[in-house]
Amino acid sequence: MTDDQPIPDLAATIAEVRARIERAAAGREIGLVAVSKTKPVAAIEAAIAAGQLVFGENRVQEAALKFTPLRIPYATLDLHLIGPLQTNKARDAVLLFDQIETLDRPKLADALATAAEREGTLPNLLVQVNIGDEAQKAGVARAEADGFIRAMRARFGEALRGLMAIPPVGVDPAPYFRDLVAMADHHGLPIRSIGMSGDFETAIACGATQVRVGSALFGGR
Ligand SMILES: *Cc1c(COP(=O)(O)O)cnc(C)c1O
Repeated sequence: MTDDQPIPDLAATIAEVRARIERAAAGREIGLVAVSKTKPVAAIEAAIAAGQLVFGENRVQEAALKFTPLRIPYATLDLHLIGPLQTNKARDAVLLFDQIETLDRPKLADALATAAEREGTLPNLLVQVNIGDEAQKAGVARAEADGFIRAMRARFGEALRGLMAIPPVGVDPAPYFRDLVAMADHHGLPIRSIGMSGDFETAIACGATQVRVGSALFGGR
């Protein structure tokens, strides 16, 4: 997160990624979340200058440091939390983010509900599903997903907007993407946040409505 990294001209890169998304989307509307974790504010400003307004960060504190000042000149920024959220940061997260993509357990739901009540604001929420049932990954286990999604819909109503998942690495992600989309269909949830730099076209073909792209936009981390 240093500010002395060279800042590439992002306009061409963003246009290229957008063109790839558009080709894969075949007329559907796909949201592009530019994942700016570890990248300096100057890189984010370069992306904004190129018309990108939706960003994803995986840590509350890093996001607050970088985006709180940017919110002043750029009021229409749309900031997503895509990393695990600790309950003790729920209040900061509710105040900072427009969409929290990593709701995955009842204790976090409690903390978010309390924070939302106190602050009088509630971001859009996505339930993160551990779609590969991997021990090291965050997200609600597949066997518990239906019950958890129903409970979150009952609790948060329309603020529960969709599902997010990160498939296992090193295997074809398509079956996992399709399962996530089927779950979202089953629950009538409009947002399906799947697909990253290496597989966003596959995710779109499988029914993604929102992709989270970092390195293909900003370079490696
Ligand atoms: C880092 C990250 C991304 C972006 O990954 P790239 O491969 O750099 O596009 C997407 N989603 C989540 C949850 C991430 O942590």
